[in-house]
Amino acid sequence: MPNILIVTDLEGLTTVTQKEPIKDETSLAYKSACEQLMRETNLAISALIDAGATKIYVLDGHASGKNFIKNSLDKRAVQVWGDDLAWVMKEIEGFVMLGAHALAGSSDGFFSHTLMWEEFKVYRHNGRAVGETDIMATYAGLFDVPCIAVTGDNHVCLEVERVFNGVATAVVKRAISRDEAQPLSYTDAKKVIYNAMVKGFKNRKNIKPLKETFPLTVEVDFSTETALERWCKNRTDIIKGENLNTKSIKLRENVKFYRDLFL
Ligand SMILES: [Zn+2]
Repeated sequence: MPNILIVTDLEGLTTVTQKEPIKDETSLAYKSACEQLMRETNLAISALIDAGATKIYVLDGHASGKNFIKNSLDKRAVQVWGDDLAWVMKEIEGFVMLGAHALAGSSDGFFSHTLMWEEFKVYRHNGRAVGETDIMATYAGLFDVPCIAVTGDNHVCLEVERVFNGVATAVVKRAISRDEAQPLSYTDAKKVIYNAMVKGFKNRKNIKPLKETFPLTVEVDFSTETALERWCKNRTDIIKGENLNTKSIKLRENVKFYRDLFL
């Protein structure tokens, strides 16, 4: 049963190198980013199947999860939706983050952020600054599922290599700043993405799942006090942090849904 889940994002795709496709979903740049999303997702599916994967699940993980172009996903993959990914986690031996970006606070990573672009300055799990790959890995870790491969800019790849020993990475662009990146040609990017999928798949049994200690403390530094007030209004589960701009929350030990890990 070597099944794999691919979680996709937009910011770390090869050709997404400016703000426009992310900031404006009515733009032509967004439309072309979605086309690139299908290209890279289908390439990853092919590579994983070539490497020996039996079944591929795919989760459209950017924003509201409506970025896939209808009928464009490789028919050999199964798209999954929603927060309750437990059934998927029980069926897979690893997951891939495709088109990923660096964590909040990584000032030079292209489009670096954790969940929220402006409001969250730093997002921590049990005191450690984390990105979106860590959040998925924390959830997957509950089911002993490791992160086997990541594609994105040089910053996110370095970030995951530090956390997941043995993870395969594909650097498809170099970040120039948080707003701009220099991509590989797609011909070259294709090779690094394909190779990372095969390498990660073959090494999946040697990569340790992320085992966080529960109950998990999630702590967020907000960029402004206004953002903090807005987020924390009507929340009785939030415990005030030590810093003026920090609020923290202790999550339930029994995390059921992926989104239970979000503030
Ligand atoms: Zn995204």
